[in-house]
Amino acid sequence: MSQPLLRHTTSEIIERKALTVNPAKTCQPIGAMYAALGIHGCLPHSHGSQGCCAYHRSTLTRHYKEPVMAATSSFTEGSSVFGGQSNLLQAINNIFTLYDPEVIAVHTTCLSETIGDDIPQIASKAQKDGKIPEGKYVIHANTPSYVGSHITGFANMTKSMVDYFAEKSDTPSERINIIPGYVEPSDMEEMKRLAAEMGIDYTLFPDTSNVLNRPQTGQYEMYPPGGVTIDALKKTGDSKATVAVGKTTSGPAAEALKDKCGVPFELLDLPIGLQATDRFVNALRKTAGVEVPESITIERGRMVDIITDMQQYFFGKKVGLVGDPDQLISMTEFLVALDMMPIYVVTGSPAGKKFEKKILELTKDVPHEVKVKASGDMFLFHQWIKNEPVDLLIGNTYIKYIAKDEDIPFVRFGFPILDRVGHSYFPTVGYRGGMRLLEKFLDALLERQDRDAGVEDFELVM
Ligand code: SF4
Repeated sequence: MSQPLLRHTTSEIIERKALTVNPAKTCQPIGAMYAALGIHGCLPHSHGSQGCCAYHRSTLTRHYKEPVMAATSSFTEGSSVFGGQSNLLQAINNIFTLYDPEVIAVHTTCLSETIGDDIPQIASKAQKDGKIPEGKYVIHANTPSYVGSHITGFANMTKSMVDYFAEKSDTPSERINIIPGYVEPSDMEEMKRLAAEMGIDYTLFPDTSNVLNRPQTGQYEMYPPGGVTIDALKKTGDSKATVAVGKTTSGPAAEALKDKCGVPFELLDLPIGLQATDRFVNALRKTAGVEVPESITIERGRMVDIITDMQQYFFGKKVGLVGDPDQLISMTEFLVALDMMPIYVVTGSPAGKKFEKKILELTKDVPHEVKVKASGDMFLFHQWIKNEPVDLLIGNTYIKYIAKDEDIPFVRFGFPILDRVGHSYFPTVGYRGGMRLLEKFLDALLERQDRDAGVEDFELVM
């Protein structure tokens, strides 16, 4: 056997307070940039140094396998000392002149936050100086990466869409807002499909479908056809209600919309797995006052049938999970429903005690000790595994080193997935997404069983 890749990971666990090793998160602006790409005609702008922007763009590009456009204030030593106002003013002017977006979505970085640049003040100066053309916009979100994670950045930029655009007119509408959380473009598409199937008039924001999973047409488009329009964002203030999924990522925007325009909201878990999808579909049904069509009932029935067929293989399997808080909550509930045992759950995002409590509640009937850590890291996760291995790992690409060293089947899920292609085209939310996950789990487990079977046990049907 070759040398382990993570050979410095010890099984002896020492309490650490000031050191993170292999963080289970990435930095705030990545989430802000991803959310901003969910507005039609938007150019994200990174207010900081070129290196930050290059890293954020490349992480998104490597995950989605699509070119991710973003501009940068290109801080130099001078701007680092005196502030980035003149860089941002020049950038706004250049961007509207050269690239003509509908909106520039500015997010800050560690450096510009440490300097204390006041983005609304700079944007209002740009407006006064005539650098923002009529009918165009500059919005912003504060995304210092020494707090929070990509999840916080996504939540902040999504809330900014409400802060900048949502308006309440005298004409209320029957429309439902859907805030989808930090999920793949294909997941946003799937939520829209379910809403459309139910005959619901909806606005989903942000919406990266047809932006980061767009078809190959042979034509380069700086601003792809997808994304929520500014007009639709403005009208979210007149909507009948909001269904927000993913408490960490969508909660702040849903609350802001209620405070600003009085739009009531229902805040649910991400619709990953059977129960969470049931709650999502039911919330849409109740909020919009519609019936669930037969077509969706059939999808659900198929998922239940697949679970029934697969349950014998899932029963009692120990699982280790690393990911983002909203995803982990729904995934843990899903695994428990399959009679699996999610015994290690780690998020790098600062989701706090509430998250840990929620996971422990969801797993209270699991016949095994469950370890959960918010603001944890993959080093600790690996140490837990060294002390007691699991049957299956679920998480982003960085888990593959642990999977290889410990020889454990691994299902890629979450963000980022850098070493596989296709995930952004297929959902994991909804009944269809659930069926896809089930197939992935079973394939990973049975591939291992086949691989390890002796010739006398190598069965055609297992
Ligand atoms: S952590 Fe801060 S300095 Fe590093 S890439 Fe992210 S925003 Fe830039």
